[in-house]
Amino acid sequence: MRDPRYDILFTPVRIGPVTTRNRFFQVPHCNGMGHSQPLAHAAMREVKAEGGWGVVSTEECEIHPSSDLSPYIEARLWDDRDIPALALMCDKVHAHGALAAVELSHNGPTASNLYSREVLIAPSHQPSKYGYPSQARAMTREDIRQYRRWHRDAALRAKRAGMDIIYVYAAHDLSLAMHFLQRRRNQRSDEYGGSLENRVRLLREVLEDTRDAVGDTCAVALRFATEELLGPGGVELAEAQDIVGMLAELPDLWDVNVAAWYNDSVPSRFAPEGAQEPFISFVKKTTTKPVVGVGRFTSPDSMVSQIRRGVLDLIGAARPSIADPYLPRKIDEGRVEDIRECIGCNICVSGDMTITPIRCTQNPTMGEEWRKGWHPERMPAKRSSARVLVVGGGPAGLEAARALGQRGYEVSLAEARRELGGRVTREARLPGLAEWGRVRDWRLGQLNKLTDVSLYLDSELTAQDVLDFGAEHVVLATGCHWRRDGFGRSNGLGIDGLKDSPHVYTLDDLMDGRMPSGRVAVFDDDGFYYASIATDLLRLNNCEVSYVTTEDSVAPWSVNTLDYRHIRKRMAKQGVWVMVSHNIVSFDGATLVLENTWDGQLTEQRCDALVTVTSRLPHDALYQQLRERETAWADSGIRSLRCIGDAEAPGLIAHAIYAGHRYARELEEPVTDEVPFKRHFHTARENDLRRE
Ligand code: ADP
Ligand code: SF4
Repeated sequence: MRDPRYDILFTPVRIGPVTTRNRFFQVPHCNGMGHSQPLAHAAMREVKAEGGWGVVSTEECEIHPSSDLSPYIEARLWDDRDIPALALMCDKVHAHGALAAVELSHNGPTASNLYSREVLIAPSHQPSKYGYPSQARAMTREDIRQYRRWHRDAALRAKRAGMDIIYVYAAHDLSLAMHFLQRRRNQRSDEYGGSLENRVRLLREVLEDTRDAVGDTCAVALRFATEELLGPGGVELAEAQDIVGMLAELPDLWDVNVAAWYNDSVPSRFAPEGAQEPFISFVKKTTTKPVVGVGRFTSPDSMVSQIRRGVLDLIGAARPSIADPYLPRKIDEGRVEDIRECIGCNICVSGDMTITPIRCTQNPTMGEEWRKGWHPERMPAKRSSARVLVVGGGPAGLEAARALGQRGYEVSLAEARRELGGRVTREARLPGLAEWGRVRDWRLGQLNKLTDVSLYLDSELTAQDVLDFGAEHVVLATGCHWRRDGFGRSNGLGIDGLKDSPHVYTLDDLMDGRMPSGRVAVFDDDGFYYASIATDLLRLNNCEVSYVTTEDSVAPWSVNTLDYRHIRKRMAKQGVWVMVSHNIVSFDGATLVLENTWDGQLTEQRCDALVTVTSRLPHDALYQQLRERETAWADSGIRSLRCIGDAEAPGLIAHAIYAGHRYARELEEPVTDEVPFKRHFHTARENDLRRE
């Protein structure tokens, strides 16, 4: 069944004392569940193992209370009482034939210690990066000995939990082993500072300690950043090459990437598949040990190419494994077209950033494996032979139709336009967002295999059409549009004069090809990606662009998806004139009057057009009309009517997919008043839980 071209992806690889069944390696990734929701965490990792990943890793694992990452929720091995939570994961991962890996970390000055209230420690005195604006103190030699002991103890605990691969972490600017390498963080004058040999000493010692403690049965992996893109204060490629040379055979596995996280998990808008290759390809030439690296690989051909060309031995993945936990199995079973490809939107990252369970645009079951019992590949069978009418073929409608079809329902989907995909199709045409079209493509691919789902294009339905159709269940996923009147967070009464001005444009206008020219101001009252995409598009159309926001920074929410720095850099490069902390007072088609949000001072800007990105209005007219005609439902056979996705409340594409999926899961299922998901509770017994 498997295409023989991909056989090489399924050959076992020896990693020190352990062997992985194939080359698919789920590298460490955060998930917002970690130590606080161990059952949910274990269930999420289990699905990856079930889906064929050879290795399944934890996220960062705190080894000591002096490296407390609160409020971020990661894994934890502070003492023996933390073992059972990780043992849960190991048991589940092993049950499906995969290896379990743990990424041990002491984050030194990049911990927060907000919870433990310990004083931060670092190679040298320096400011903290997270938590309070305080400082970390320089570690003494005794501290270094202690830190080595903590790391060793954590490795032993990890082994007892059942881990097969124990990471030493020196990446992302997040761990002491890396901080000692960085000149900007290490100004010591003893044997741990100064020369490269000295700065590498601690990393070498910790690798040796770990091997000594657990190396008989566990592989020791080194996660190492080869470049920080910060110049001489940071790890640079030339020095990284020396370091890999110095430590070449010491770890059993090299896991290499670019730091920090925003340079590693770059959104697809700013980096293509395999973008790290120039920074990591040297490693395999320097060591005989297996090398794993990431590149948001979703194509088996790219994976094979990485191996054949001697770049990587193991295909590392965080995001591709989130979007499709069954990716390896689908390749193995000759179902490459079934792979739900990651779109590189980084909504998964926002879970960790907002300290909540991970979620994914493409995979609505991510983070819900335990909590809601949702599986990415399996759906409960339909409850009846009822027919379902889905109105609207955007992400919400497509996912509802697909998932209902998977349950076995007979589904008809009507779409007003001549193309499917709704906002996904439209947004994917914007600069840099082409990969987002995968949200539509995967669903269309699956829908085409479902014989009981019919798709009707060019079919704008009225309330009467819906009543005449005679389906038992009707779900409206009719989307939304951008407002033109300036109403939004900062202007609850709208902005005078905007609504009917021919010089005011919305994102819908731009997506429809109605493009301004000359000097254009973009007003961002939304804070995420839309406004910066508008500036990209306008610059490509040779407009002179200024960006105005009431916020104190550009696109502040984009910090949560790691877009922020890339957006800022691009705007700077494009010569976009940025004005933060300003609201719009008026625009007459030639003069834009702005008001400083702090001192009320007015300024004027000459411009020919204004693009507003403020808020959206649901297309819920059809829903309202059908509600008004509720008395006619029985005669039409309609038993339920729902409005979902942007038509209910405009949100992200991820919200629309989730809404469509949830609708399909819950259709005709028993309704209760209970909290609709499982939660972790603390009991006296659990507080005393010890591994027998
Ligand atoms: P969502 O993100 O909630 O899926 P979209 O805006 O992406 O919303 O998609 C909504 C889709 O519904 C659009 O493609 C739009 O053309 C379609 N649509 C809106 N009203 C109707 C209608 N009355 N009949 C059929 N299709 C409709
Ligand atoms: Fe990929 Fe987006 Fe899903 Fe993250 S949320 S795994 S980037 S599709």
